[in-house]
Amino acid sequence: MIEENVHSLLNQLRGGNRYGEPVTLVAATKTRTPEEIQRAVDAGIGAVGENKVQEFTGKYALFRGAERHFIGRLQTNKVKYLVGKCDLIHSVDRDNLAEALSRRAEELGVVQSVLIEINIGREETKSGYPPEEALAAFERVRRAAGLKVRGFMAMLPPSEDENLLSSLADSMRRIYEEAKKRDGAVDCLSMGMSGDWKLCIGHGANVIRLGTAIFGERNYAG
Ligand SMILES: *Cc1c(COP(=O)(O)O)cnc(C)c1O
Repeated sequence: MIEENVHSLLNQLRGGNRYGEPVTLVAATKTRTPEEIQRAVDAGIGAVGENKVQEFTGKYALFRGAERHFIGRLQTNKVKYLVGKCDLIHSVDRDNLAEALSRRAEELGVVQSVLIEINIGREETKSGYPPEEALAAFERVRRAAGLKVRGFMAMLPPSEDENLLSSLADSMRRIYEEAKKRDGAVDCLSMGMSGDWKLCIGHGANVIRLGTAIFGERNYAG
């Protein structure tokens, strides 16, 4: 099941996004067991992403064979568990988090790769910089000595309105392209989950984060 899902998804991603850029498939592993995660990696997943620091530390400790990403909300007092241990942190959503990450990276003598999270749908329940602040935030965060900003992460709002979703995804692509013009390190637009990844790669996402489409429905009670 997991194996079939991974093979089918990788097949569908073979042509890349609408610009022909390769699309990185990140398995969103919240609530999944180490065994399930290993099956996805053995089937060809190149990167896994966790939402909670404790899960990242526990489940990924012995884990080899794929990049390890962090995709959840991050408290500044927990950065020490991630910096230097995580290939890409998708969720830098405020300046004081960027500062804490950079400070820790400098202490360790490493450079931490990060994405800046944008609240593209202006949802109260979601974190991230508002879209009109994206490029100013990018300029501030990329000056942090311990960080390498590789692009942006966004979640489209839950909506059936394809025109709305398309225009939000296009806005994210424009932000990404402007940042890429300014800084050659920018190569990631992380946008797309199980319900909307096709729309997102159709509008220029090149990293997608899928849970349900790989592992099946989540059972939070279990
Ligand atoms: C859970 C999660 C996903 C994947 O969600 P699915 O709908 O199961 O694909 C992607 N991104 C983030 C930040 C998540 O928390």
